[in-house]
Amino acid sequence: MNNDEFRSTAHEFVDWIADFLENIEKYPVLPKTKPGEIKAQLPGYPPLEGEDMKAIFSDFEKIILPGITHWQHPSFFAYFPANSSQPSLLAEMLTATIGAQCMAWQTSPAATELEEVVMEWLRKMLGLPDDFTGVIQDTASTSTLSALITAREKTTGFSVNEAGFYQNSGNRRLAVYTSSEAHSSIEKGAKIAGFGKKNIRLIPVDDDFRMIPSKLEEAIRNDMDNGITPCCVVAAIGTTSSLAVDPLRKIGELCRSYNLWLHVDAAMAGTAAILPEKRWILDGIEHADSFVFNPHKWMFTNFDCSAYFCKDPKHLIKTFSINPEYLKTDADMKVKNLRDWGIPLGRRFRALKLWFVIRSYGIVGLQKMVREHIRLAEEFAKWAEEDGRFELTAPQSLNLVCFRFNPKIVKMDEAALERINKALMDELNDSGKLFLSHTKLGGKFTLRMSIGQTSTAYKHIESAWNLIKTAKAIF
Ligand code: PLP
Repeated sequence: MNNDEFRSTAHEFVDWIADFLENIEKYPVLPKTKPGEIKAQLPGYPPLEGEDMKAIFSDFEKIILPGITHWQHPSFFAYFPANSSQPSLLAEMLTATIGAQCMAWQTSPAATELEEVVMEWLRKMLGLPDDFTGVIQDTASTSTLSALITAREKTTGFSVNEAGFYQNSGNRRLAVYTSSEAHSSIEKGAKIAGFGKKNIRLIPVDDDFRMIPSKLEEAIRNDMDNGITPCCVVAAIGTTSSLAVDPLRKIGELCRSYNLWLHVDAAMAGTAAILPEKRWILDGIEHADSFVFNPHKWMFTNFDCSAYFCKDPKHLIKTFSINPEYLKTDADMKVKNLRDWGIPLGRRFRALKLWFVIRSYGIVGLQKMVREHIRLAEEFAKWAEEDGRFELTAPQSLNLVCFRFNPKIVKMDEAALERINKALMDELNDSGKLFLSHTKLGGKFTLRMSIGQTSTAYKHIESAWNLIKTAKAIF
């Protein structure tokens, strides 16, 4: 493709993108694709000769698009949002065009320095402590893994990096603590970091699904009594299932008194801290050693963009720093080389889209959208509570409502409730008009209404509620 062809095709693509966003409600949120259906339409061998872009695009529309789950649909209420926005898309086009690989300051000085500035903006927007420094990672999973590895190294005097696990007498069994409601990325990270699944303590939660600090202390003491070294606590500010907020201050105080690394996973809910009235969710954050939240979930910045902050980057850098001859530059002593702030060497220029989003909406614009999502969730929760046939299965939290059909006038056992609520969810999702996902809370099959798409408005919540309360499955 030459540049003239690129120019005209790109213009057409931009028109297509704008039309797509304008008409997204015409697409089913969840496709009806059967397993293997897309693969069956694609050739097993790549083309020998180059193909025309028109043919490629036509296949994109015919084969790929019908198999897409529309995360940008305003009636996407499943899992958690992965919202995007026009300013973010524009920046992503520029990022792809520039194609910079931002592993070191020298490999794109502007990328490193912009990242430092936008992370400082974010720190201030969330009210994080002054001594936190931020870096962008791809996902919260990677951020948490980085925290766990850093905690491991700090606790062992950096000896695992040096000698490997259990290779020298200084290495002991290390334990990680998180709640039984914590995200699976913590277990995964702890396994990858070498702690071992059997050294992960899942601390019980209270009736509102928050970690119980006294149980945490019990587990820490129990490990110490058994010769196991407590290493790291991961607190959730917004669990995945119900967006429960762990009591950070109490957990933080315990971490300080037992000298444990405290990592805070606020993957989705962290965004709410841009609202002064929701800043309480981070009460006690000054005790944390590291903190993650994802602008790629609920801050209108397209995937991927995970904001990782740490109190004392020297531990992070000491853990991850590599300095082979071919990467050394004259600027090294004066600048940040962000390859040393995480796992991969290669880094995308993610700061640009964050910069575009924050500048384009402004703090007030972002606050307005996040506040509205929370208001819509509160409204939805009120409807569900007032309708005698439904109940909330967890306290409504920020932009999430956990609920299920459970009419007070009929007594049903858990198995029957699960069957009927699963049928309700399937009926709703099959309609293509909305997409909800489920979880289990205290053994109860629960539907999750997660509100956070960029264009979700009152009318979408209202029509979702109308579909839910009139679904065949509940009559
Ligand atoms: N932590 C929490 C609380 C989450 O809800 C999620 C995703 O749902 C994650 C971590 C993982 O996020 P990522 O996909 O960025 O790794």
